[in-house]
Amino acid sequence: KESTSRENNVAKIKVVVRKRPLNRKELSRKEEDIITVHDSSFLTVYEPKLKVDLTAYVEKHEFCFDAVLDENVSNDEVYRETVEPIIPIIFQRTKATCFAYGQTGSGKTYTMQPLPLRAAHDMVHLLHQPVYRNQNFKLWLSFFEIYGGKLFDLLSDRRQLLMREDGKKQVCIVGLQEFEVNDVQIVKEYIERGNAARSTGSTGANEESSRSHAILQLAVKKHVIVKDTRRQRDRDANEAKNTKAVGKISFIDLAGSERGADTTDNDRQTRIEGAEINKSLLALKECIRALDNDQIHIPFRGSKLTEVLRDSFVGNSRTVMISCISPNAGSCEHTLNTLRYADRVK
Ligand code: ADP
Ligand code: MG
Repeated sequence: KESTSRENNVAKIKVVVRKRPLNRKELSRKEEDIITVHDSSFLTVYEPKLKVDLTAYVEKHEFCFDAVLDENVSNDEVYRETVEPIIPIIFQRTKATCFAYGQTGSGKTYTMQPLPLRAAHDMVHLLHQPVYRNQNFKLWLSFFEIYGGKLFDLLSDRRQLLMREDGKKQVCIVGLQEFEVNDVQIVKEYIERGNAARSTGSTGANEESSRSHAILQLAVKKHVIVKDTRRQRDRDANEAKNTKAVGKISFIDLAGSERGADTTDNDRQTRIEGAEINKSLLALKECIRALDNDQIHIPFRGSKLTEVLRDSFVGNSRTVMISCISPNAGSCEHTLNTLRYADRVK
């Protein structure tokens, strides 16, 4: 009974905003911090504007979210606010997704990178608790990237992956390598390996990775002993490994939201990627909204990203969106765009 009430306490969709501190470059340029976090759910953006006669004035924009984390909040606190409450219900057949959304440089990767490791730590701990000790639960990890509408496995030399839907409308990514990870050190090694494999072009790591979505999944699976070999042969690829999915959590470091506007760029490749990013971020918003309204039809088909996440949005699911914002005046337009997107999702 206790677990049921705990499960109900975790909101189906939670929207969190995180403001980063001004960085050294912004400080040296004497850029102004235009964001004030008033309390744990309320913030104001002071937008610098000019009148026609060029006199300066400030336009105030107020926003309210499930949680607003200011520049003094640590990654530990971010974990406690976002992912920690979800961990126990992953063991009760829940599929959860945690996104970081925002412009390049707003702190998405800084925010997302430590989360899977902390989650794995708590999940491994739970596996060994008396309630689960005899269940034969194991933890599995996979890590891939969506870049220009294509899928690449970050843990097997960037091998390109294809998607397929099975008879039960479960999305299956053909060839995606999954690794059993029953200790935190191994999880750490896989995360580092995957991060090193993220798309980097001649223009520099952050530049290229800002055009891709990185998806790290931690799945709880139950090992089953299948005695009937005929039945075993009939099972799909996943179950051939003698495992049965219990629940999972996906951590998604989204492409820079400003990249979706690269649709008029002179470079053809940049334009194509921009259009793809724009499509996926719009589709994501539509899916989360549909989910929140308990709509029967969820518009997964809108993009590769939402198609991949399809099985995480149906049934018993939880979604956490962490919107990252830069505090400097120069980022005001992007910041307002990010907050409006988050507001629409809420
Ligand atoms: P993004 O992934 O959105 O492009 P990053 O996570 O790479 O942005 O962050 C950009 C820079 O700002 C990095 O150098 C990062 O270390 C720093 N940074 C981001 N968020 C914070 C924060 N909350 N506190 C301190 N530094 C931060
Ligand atoms: Mg990043």
